[in-house]
Amino acid sequence: PLVLGIETSCDETGVALVRGRELLTDVTASSMDEHARYGGIVPEVASRAHLEAFLPTLDTALERADVDLAEVDAVAVTAGPGLVGSLTVGVAAAKALALSTGKPLYGINHVVGHAAVDELVHGPFPERFVSLVVSGGHTSLLLVDDIATGVRELGQTLDDAAGEAFDKVGRLLGLPYPGGPHVDRLAQQGEKDAIRFPRGLTGGKYAKDAAKYAYDFSFSGLKTAVARYLEGYEDRGEEVPAADVAAGFSESVADVLVTKSLDACARNDCDTLVVGGGFSANSRLRELAAERAAERGITVRIPPIRYCTDNGAMIAALGSAVVRSGAAPSSFDIPTDSAMPLETVRV
Ligand code: ATP
Ligand code: MG
Ligand code: FE
Repeated sequence: PLVLGIETSCDETGVALVRGRELLTDVTASSMDEHARYGGIVPEVASRAHLEAFLPTLDTALERADVDLAEVDAVAVTAGPGLVGSLTVGVAAAKALALSTGKPLYGINHVVGHAAVDELVHGPFPERFVSLVVSGGHTSLLLVDDIATGVRELGQTLDDAAGEAFDKVGRLLGLPYPGGPHVDRLAQQGEKDAIRFPRGLTGGKYAKDAAKYAYDFSFSGLKTAVARYLEGYEDRGEEVPAADVAAGFSESVADVLVTKSLDACARNDCDTLVVGGGFSANSRLRELAAERAAERGITVRIPPIRYCTDNGAMIAALGSAVVRSGAAPSSFDIPTDSAMPLETVRV
């Protein structure tokens, strides 16, 4: 099927066309520059930007793929999770397009889309795999038997997302927003073992609940530990070893992400880990995942970074899988769900 995918869950307006598992085009407009001066995403600014960017983005996508709207077999749109004001713009646009062309509409789960997009890059998924979706808004582990119909949530973050923790530590270190890439670069100049920061949800009071939290994450305690460490230097009037702090912090985040993901693979008999979401750009995560997965004979699949950040291709990819599964289309009053559960691949 030829599927038009629309993504507007956060600050990126994405439109893409996918035929089967083949990506025809993927166009993204971002309002991040407008948010940067506020030091965070401003929902009203984001939804307004989607309104302005949608039609030009759609036109560009159709033009680049040399496709007429009438040729599209189905319209797929992110229904959640995300910012309600942003989701609403994409869903309204998708409904209008589906109604005017008489094509079926599919409301799609954004987080599952982050995993699904890898099929466009690395080909069909194995029968069962684990996916780690990690970004500024999400940190989730999924067990996938069928990307269209069989997704289970193994765990997720109980507080901050990994990217969010990096942005907060970036702020503590006086780096520009979003801090993630800056902290990553700084970390590469530091010594990863110079400072050992805590690994969230392991040891201490969590030791007795190890099984309960096996696949969950927590990064807010780690962020607080970094803040306390930096305060110590401030109190003593000493210069902060910023690169070592960044490296120790990055090591803690990468260590828990990789350890839990590979444990999930081992315990669920999977030899494939699919990583997605904008935090997949993190260099230490990539290194450590490659290193430890190789030791265990597990294949790590990570799409190029432009398909890891929010985009339309991920929604078209999952939409295409859902259409191929024979699932019934969504109703025209699909709700936007800011907290859509991961098991709900489509609404
Ligand atoms: P979502 O809606 O999926 O949560 P988002 O816009 O919050 O989307 P992405 O755009 O997918 O997140 O990813 C951006 C996040 O990843 C930001 O928090 C950013 O700081 C972080 N990030 C990006 N590159 C790196 C990196 N190299 N190292 C660490 N963090 C990074
Ligand atoms: Mg983003
Ligand atoms: Fe996302």
